[in-house]
Amino acid sequence: AAASAAVLVLSSAACGSSEKTTDKTESGGAQLIGVTMPTRSSQRWIGDGENVKKALETLGYQVDLQYAEDDIPTQVNQVESQITRGAKLLIIAPVDGTAMTTQLQTAADRKIPVIAYDWLLRNSPNVDYYATFDNYKVGVQQATSLLIGLKLLDADGSPGAAKGPFNVELFAGSPDDNNATFFFDGAMSVLKPYLDKGTLVVPSRQTDFKTIAILRWQAEVAQKRMENLLTSTYRSGLKVQGVLSPYDGISIGIVSALRTSGYGINGQPYPVITGQDAETTSIKSIIDGEQYSTVFKDFRELAKTSAQMADAILKGQKPTVNNDKDYDNGVKVVPAMLLDTSIVNKANYEQALITSGFYRKDQLR
Ligand code: BGC
Repeated sequence: AAASAAVLVLSSAACGSSEKTTDKTESGGAQLIGVTMPTRSSQRWIGDGENVKKALETLGYQVDLQYAEDDIPTQVNQVESQITRGAKLLIIAPVDGTAMTTQLQTAADRKIPVIAYDWLLRNSPNVDYYATFDNYKVGVQQATSLLIGLKLLDADGSPGAAKGPFNVELFAGSPDDNNATFFFDGAMSVLKPYLDKGTLVVPSRQTDFKTIAILRWQAEVAQKRMENLLTSTYRSGLKVQGVLSPYDGISIGIVSALRTSGYGINGQPYPVITGQDAETTSIKSIIDGEQYSTVFKDFRELAKTSAQMADAILKGQKPTVNNDKDYDNGVKVVPAMLLDTSIVNKANYEQALITSGFYRKDQLR
């Protein structure tokens, strides 16, 4: 990416709000960076958008931030309009990682560098860098916390007091999100030996990614699937003891289905339910003893990282990356910066989320 190139940050959320975007590049003023995010329906993307914008503005850029409300054509339009308006770089978190190839080609033709934000842009050679978390490790952490919750492991990872067998059900993320398979593969690398030995049993026998994937990560879809499992596989009174859930929104849907079917009352405990993103609804649910854990991704760091990448690219420097082998987008391996994540549960949420300044205490009440 040449120093003269424009940088656009696109994420998969779109909001109609467009800011004034005078490109002052020529006059030596602020360069415009286009940022597109997938949706505002999830708390994390709202924060992501705001944080990226703030970080870029601090570095002296002008930012056009858009949210696509999970609609592919909306996001396509947003990116096209950012290109037309002279964005020097694009940061994109795609609604659908495969749907943007034409716009990416246009960007490349105009020498506008592109950073994929958290979700990989697929099937295009025109993706310069990728800023995300260590997605495989997220899956490892989700599965590990499931085992800790079941007491098959102690908190330090050593063998726990429980022997099993335990009934568990597995959920995976959206099949159009490249990250979802990383989460699933990471989780299965931990769970497989337990499933092979019979320490963990999946009574529904639904363990195939495609069967357990929840399109667009939707809570209602997950709730429906859990309800179906409860009224079929678990009809005879069999109890679910653990649920591998890949995302907090999905976990909330699962909790609802379980509650309706009598879990959480009359001494019938909720199963151990995992999650991801440390959304406030889920942290409250964890405090209330419903959801068991989540994986905390510090989005502030991701915003900072992507802003630094953009800045380096626009200054003609090489951005820092720490992975150049795992994120093959179907056409090229995209150099990536993978950030660390951590398991959060009732025992450590205050330290992880409040002491760290990620949330204020009153946000979790
Ligand atoms: C993101 C997660 C998020 C999920 C659902 C994933 O690709 O990496 O942070 O939980 O999408 O939005």
